[in-house]
Amino acid sequence: MKAAFNLFGTLKNTRSNSGVDSASTVEFSKEMIQSNPQESAKAPRRNRPGVKFEEAYQWKPLPFDEIDSVFALQEYLQSIIRDDRENITRLLEVPDNQNPDVWQYEHFKQICLELNYLVVQLYSECSKVSCPEMKADEWLYLCAAHPTPQGCCAIDYVVHTLDGATAILNSNKYFPSRMNIHETSKKHYQSIARRLYRIFAHSWFHHREVFDEFENETFLYARFMALSAKFDLIPNSLIIIPDLALSD
Ligand SMILES: [Zn+2]
Ligand SMILES: [Zn+2]
Repeated sequence: MKAAFNLFGTLKNTRSNSGVDSASTVEFSKEMIQSNPQESAKAPRRNRPGVKFEEAYQWKPLPFDEIDSVFALQEYLQSIIRDDRENITRLLEVPDNQNPDVWQYEHFKQICLELNYLVVQLYSECSKVSCPEMKADEWLYLCAAHPTPQGCCAIDYVVHTLDGATAILNSNKYFPSRMNIHETSKKHYQSIARRLYRIFAHSWFHHREVFDEFENETFLYARFMALSAKFDLIPNSLIIIPDLALSD
């Protein structure tokens, strides 16, 4: 089984030998869009009811300043991820005249959203029995999602941590606006990044196949680490996964 990731719809499992027809259909739609750039620019940018999973979102991203929406930054980020998720430099580039703190915020929300797909994949083999403690390499982590930190099993730790990060990012108290970020709220970026990192680390050390399959498809870890490097989020001393670019 191969996991296919449609960022903003549902996660769908597809059999690896069933993609021939749909792949050619997607290629065909792309050709149509590319051969008629002016027409496609005017075409409604929405998925029609009943659109096939493989054919959703078949349009090119708009330049940021042409997106007319209160969620312009989020829409722009999601569109460039769909367009080319391997181009990490482009994904991290702060759009012109935009606040880097707000850009980070959008990235964090997106990373949490996509990490949920990794959790779905982890469920197949990470359990209270297989991983009674949240470990990565020699490290043991206590779950901070409780009044007193406690030793949750790994899959519970992962879910609690992801829920906790999402709750902070959606909190009106810490992030009341999408337009600017309070100075005091920025400190949450580092603690969220450190905790999310452990989810990747547990997956890499204990569920390598799941990690690799997920990363090959999403490049989420690469994006997460580049974000961390760009904005100084995780100290080098806490990075325990070997540099993937060097390890192949
Ligand atoms: Zn596990
Ligand atoms: Zn917990």
